[in-house]
Amino acid sequence: MPGRGYTNTELTIGLIEELSIPEPNSGCWLWLGYANKKGYPRVGYGGKKHMVHRLAWELFNRKKIPDGMFACHRCDVPCCVNPQHIFVGTPPRTKPSHRLRLQKHG
Ligand SMILES: [Zn+2]
Repeated sequence: MPGRGYTNTELTIGLIEELSIPEPNSGCWLWLGYANKKGYPRVGYGGKKHMVHRLAWELFNRKKIPDGMFACHRCDVPCCVNPQHIFVGTPPRTKPSHRLRLQKHG
């Protein structure tokens, strides 16, 4: 298993789960790998940088998040990569102010 970068390794839900710690109370999977300044989990895969929680949702649901849509956390834990805590939402700026606390990311 390579120590960093997963360019030659198929990224799967199982691998994402292996690289995170389950939080028994919330059910969150806390990402152990690299996270950006805002705390969002990032991984280099296929020669590109990806948001891990977004990949987790796509792998789990076996479909792509449409362009312009965001992978948002139900649990409000930015480093959580449990696909069951992720939902696809529209960019916060298109919604009224009560949606502003949703993370703006990609
Ligand atoms: Zn969570």
